[in-house]
Parts: sequence; C-alpha cells; structure tokens
Amino acid sequence: DNPALDLKRYIRGIPDFPKPGILFYDISTLLRDADAWQIATARIARAVAAWQPDILAGIESRGFLMAAPLATRLGLGLVMLRKPGKLPGETVTLNYDLEYGSDSLQIQADAIKPGQRVVVVDDLLATGGTLAASISLLRKVGAEVVGASMVIELSFLGGRSRLDVPVHTLLTYD
Ligand code: IMP
Repeated sequence: DNPALDLKRYIRGIPDFPKPGILFYDISTLLRDADAWQIATARIARAVAAWQPDILAGIESRGFLMAAPLATRLGLGLVMLRKPGKLPGETVTLNYDLEYGSDSLQIQADAIKPGQRVVVVDDLLATGGTLAASISLLRKVGAEVVGASMVIELSFLGGRSRLDVPVHTLLTYD
C-alpha cells in the first residue's frame, strides 16, 4: 500500500446517468488501474478481516467485482446474491421496495451453513435499500451478518442509518 495515495482520484462522477439529474459514481476507472484496484482491495480486506467472517456475499453485479478479489485475498469462499432467474437449483427470493418501484434478489437455498459469519460486499452505498434487502435475505437462509463493505458511500443519502450491522466504506462523498 501507499498510504498517501488518494483513491478518489480514480473515481469519476458522471452526470445524468442513468437518468437526468443523477450523478453516477463510476468505479470503472478504479478497476482499470492495476495499482489502484490492488490498493483498494488491500485496504478493504483489512477492515473486512477484522470482522472474522467465514464467507463473503457479493451483490450482482459490481459487488462481485469487489467481493471476488477480497475472498481470494482473505482465503474465503463467496456466495452470490443475484437478480431473479440467474441461479440454478433451489433459491430463496426477497422482494424489496425502491424509491420508484421494486426489485428482487435471490440466493441459493443451501448457500450458507447455519450461523455462518457473513460479510456482504457491494460497490456503493446510496439509500441503503439494496444492502438492507441483502442482509434480510442472508438472514432468511441462516446467516449471521457481521458486517457490510462498500467502496463508495454517498453519506448525504443516509443509507448507513438504515443498516443494523457494522459498515465499512473506503471513500465517502458528502
Ligand atoms: P441503494 O440501494 O440506494 O443504496 O443503491 C445502491 C445500489 O445501487 C448499489 O447496488 C449500487 O451498485 C447502485 N448504485 C446507486 N447509485 C450508484 C452510483 O452512483 N454509482 C454506482 N452504483 C450506484
């Protein structure tokens, strides 16, 4: 790690995506840079390791891009939380409300052993709706959710206060 390296230099804000009026924080430019991605993963791994998880859970699809390198670095397995219809075998679904409309996430019914300590990983924490739903879904299949980890937090949206697990984010925008 180079502690002086400011990883915000590798994040772009793209106006009017996916809709007019929305500023979209883009991690593509971080992932594209070998050193920045490596350093981001190392810093997040330190925080996640402190929760002593047994397994990680990644949220489709950008969450997978952070969860996979974290899992291999920490020597842990990885469980996928996916949009409906993508996972084979018996699944458990959770529907949740968004600001406009609703969405769903699925997990394989046998993905988690009872009481396994799980850290859930995504790219970005906005309103916290996606994370709150992911935590509920993991609990439905028997997980003990011991933390949540995101690269970016949009703190002005207050997502953190909707979550009842410890939260670590690498870069905060307020
Ligand atoms: P929340 O449910 O409102 O917290 O939104 C978080 C989810 O939406 C995450 O899965 C993100 O991938 C996605 N998301 C929301 N805003 C952004 C953004 O500005 N950049 C990238 N992803 C975003």
